[in-house]
Amino acid sequence: MSEEQQVGDDKEGQVDDDKEQATGDGQVEERVFQTEVQQLLHLLIHSLYTQKEIFLRELVSNASDALDKIHHRSLTDKNVLDLDAELEIEVEVASSNKVLTIRDRGIGMTRDEVNQNIGTIARSGSAEFAKQMADADDEEKKVQLIGQFGVGFYSVFMVADRVVLTTRSADPDAEAVMWESTGDGAYTLAKADKAERGTEIKIYIRSDCEEFLDAQTLEGVIRKHSDFVSYPIKVAGKQVNDTAALWTRPRNEITDEQYNEFYTHLTGDTDEPLAREHVAVDVPIQFYSVLFIPKHSPAQWLFNPEPKISLNLHVKRVFIQDDCKELLPLWLRFVRGVVDCDDLPLNVSRENLQQNPVIAKIRQTLVRRVLGMLQSMVKKDEEKYLTFWRAYGQVLKEGVSMEVEHKDQLAGLLRYHTSLEDDADSYISLQTYIDRIQDEQEKIYYLAGENKEAIAQSPLLETFRKRGLEVLYLDEPVDEWVIQGLQKFAEKEFQAVDAADLDLAADEDEVKLEGVDDEQKAETIELIAFLKKKLEGRVSDVAESKRLTDSPCVLVAPQGGMSQNMERLMHMADREFKSGQRLLEINPKHEIIRNMGAVLKRDRDSDQLNNWAHFLVDFVLLGEGKVEDPQRVGKTLQSIMGVATASAAEETKES
Ligand code: ADP
Repeated sequence: MSEEQQVGDDKEGQVDDDKEQATGDGQVEERVFQTEVQQLLHLLIHSLYTQKEIFLRELVSNASDALDKIHHRSLTDKNVLDLDAELEIEVEVASSNKVLTIRDRGIGMTRDEVNQNIGTIARSGSAEFAKQMADADDEEKKVQLIGQFGVGFYSVFMVADRVVLTTRSADPDAEAVMWESTGDGAYTLAKADKAERGTEIKIYIRSDCEEFLDAQTLEGVIRKHSDFVSYPIKVAGKQVNDTAALWTRPRNEITDEQYNEFYTHLTGDTDEPLAREHVAVDVPIQFYSVLFIPKHSPAQWLFNPEPKISLNLHVKRVFIQDDCKELLPLWLRFVRGVVDCDDLPLNVSRENLQQNPVIAKIRQTLVRRVLGMLQSMVKKDEEKYLTFWRAYGQVLKEGVSMEVEHKDQLAGLLRYHTSLEDDADSYISLQTYIDRIQDEQEKIYYLAGENKEAIAQSPLLETFRKRGLEVLYLDEPVDEWVIQGLQKFAEKEFQAVDAADLDLAADEDEVKLEGVDDEQKAETIELIAFLKKKLEGRVSDVAESKRLTDSPCVLVAPQGGMSQNMERLMHMADREFKSGQRLLEINPKHEIIRNMGAVLKRDRDSDQLNNWAHFLVDFVLLGEGKVEDPQRVGKTLQSIMGVATASAAEETKES
């Protein structure tokens, strides 16, 4: 929280701890918002116009969280202020002075907590938020972003000229504090008179937003967005929501809209979820769950170094904790939802959840249900499944290398780009690969690389294209682990096409040495011997290639060696990692190779030949985007250009 600065009288060198002293008796301090908050406020006030009502959902949701927290805490800790207070949210309107008040009897905040929560954006990613917000072209998208990034409280400034928040922490010793701001860049904090625990927010409604001073409008907004809050929400004394937990209601009595609103309430995402599953189990353990798969999730959230499982755990309707990581394995972290179990004690603690057999059972069921959801999506609507796959395929793949139990099911859910699919966006399943496999084909071929485009251009694919053999493109780092984890699919082994031991013998005669006479054969053998010597230290060996048609040469992984992609990954993990040497395969039918053979026959000590030998390796490396020695490559290219232009000039002269 050091990003805040103090302004006003006590500007000089005051930081958190000596703030009280600095602010004197009245304890009024003025502070500026963290820069990101200022940007956010600016965006909220100046870019959202039609969806203003969501401010109410955000404030009610905060109040509900605060009630959850005190509810849970008071189960074990009786030393809290107002132990028996009614857990509810009150909404009041004072039309005369145009003030809307939202009051909860939740956990409240201390002065430090207010500074931390309502002056800074606690989470990282606020810069990312501001960026995405600036890029978002429509309002819907912006509202979604607000939900995703959890910047709810500040949305109140879409409708307010001024906001006064008074809060008192449930800590019996804490003092009440009043926070006030007009949303321009600064806020003040002062000591307040408030006997009761909880938070009260007075919203001075802007003149163009007076509809939010109308009780009926407010009721409508609350029913629409906050019906599932499990505490009574009262507008002018009358309860307007249905507090029965959604997950305990019979499925056929819940509409799609209600599920969707519940999803929004839970996640902040205003887009509809891609899929949902409502689970109600009686034996052997009684529990309910509603699971959702969002259409998309921010990469920053999916690939966070400390990934979360966003399932809230309830016990007998009482909220126990959010982000309950014991409920699902990490490779299903795209799932959001709630679990409510009747067979756990209310005082379960985070620590004993880990070994809890009830939780383990629930987890098993949930994994099965999520996989079932995905399988039924595949069956009913492959397009929809591909939306899922594009968003979360990378995460799901982690499961194959981590989980033995569900490997087969997961294998059926994998999707790949392949050499037979030209459409950039099309994917096939392993089953489709098997369905159209060639009669004699024993293996499932794949090639791994940096990205689809680079893989598609690899000369290694030439012979496969010619023979109509399909090759899977493995374009994500995790892919090769997946293949290693699976080993086989439908009794066929996976085979990398860049492995030296690749055996395409069946068609060998057709491809091999067609149009190559004995003299050329002898030249090739000579050239191979020459290259072996010249390239010692750069390649492990040189051999004649059976897999090239249009390219002069290729580098392949030696037998038992790592694939290029695996090496790349090793290098990412360990900068010191030394790449192994690869094997150079040359194409004896290629013009360049033939010419080199002919030159070698005439002049073994040709300088040019020496340069060209090295350039064969550099040529492949260039294609892979990694040149070892740019100077040498530059020089060789210059000399090649010299020869080529000279001969062209000669030809022009002649004609
Ligand atoms: P989010 O709710 O996504 O964390 P907000 O900006 O809405 O983001 O709120 C920031 C934080 O302020 C909350 O996480 C919570 O700690 C605190 N807070 C907000 N409203 C209340 C409230 N009514 N009672 C207690 N704490 C609150």
